[in-house]
Amino acid sequence: MGIIKATNLEKHYPSPDNSAETFAAVNKINLSIRQKEIFGLLGPNGAGKTTTLEMLEGLTSIDKGNVFINEIDVTKQPYEVKKIIGVQLQFNEYFDRLNLSELLILFASLYATSIDPESLLAKVNLEDKIKALPNDLSGGQKQRFSIACALVNNPKILFLDEPTTGLDPQAKRNLWNLAKSLNEEGMTIVLTTHNMEEAEYLCDRIAIMDQGSIIAQDTPQQLILDYAPEPPEIPMQGNIEDVFLALTGHGLRD
Ligand code: ADP
Repeated sequence: MGIIKATNLEKHYPSPDNSAETFAAVNKINLSIRQKEIFGLLGPNGAGKTTTLEMLEGLTSIDKGNVFINEIDVTKQPYEVKKIIGVQLQFNEYFDRLNLSELLILFASLYATSIDPESLLAKVNLEDKIKALPNDLSGGQKQRFSIACALVNNPKILFLDEPTTGLDPQAKRNLWNLAKSLNEEGMTIVLTTHNMEEAEYLCDRIAIMDQGSIIAQDTPQQLILDYAPEPPEIPMQGNIEDVFLALTGHGLRD
């Protein structure tokens, strides 16, 4: 059994065209995510990715179907589930008078646990920002700090919603390395992304969603064999991102 198991999951919202009707934002999807895998949820805007993630996390109510996380029913025991998951949200607002160390201690106290802010910040390469305020951080630093916040309860499963959107290539690759190292330590990671290179590089398996349904689900290699087996017409040595990184370096700028 997967560490995350969703069966016939459904979520309906009022139809934008006619509020008397509803439509299935998530339409009977099934997922089985294995322990220690990095699992990617891809799909165009409006496909139902965020709604799916929020139901897995217990942040949105489930209309039909069920979700078990580590064999715990998300609907029946939401607080037990919250103890073992970490959720990094797309947009975070923090109390802007508290520094990073104080914020992490505050978040840890919500889980009735204590943490060492310095080692947690070191994990996300922010150890030198321990006294900084959130508003003083760059985009990449904010993303890494939001991951540190999601790690305060030492979760088994980490959910990342578009973790690298808006980051420069250095910060993006730094975040990829962070995700890989957390995964190597044993963490299961579920992420959404619009960056196909990111999905291919990070994910052990990918589910592609469209209009509320999962239309394909497999390893990146198998998906390519099944749906895009032809080589590109013009053979490519690398891509422009590799050129950018070769010219401007892989080091973080912030
Ligand atoms: P994605 O994350 O793939 O972009 P979402 O899960 O955010 O997709 O949205 C799926 C569909 O559900 C979209 O059509 C969106 O407009 C709709 N939707 C999402 N949240 C709500 C809500 N709270 N109320 C009404 N409709 C919503």
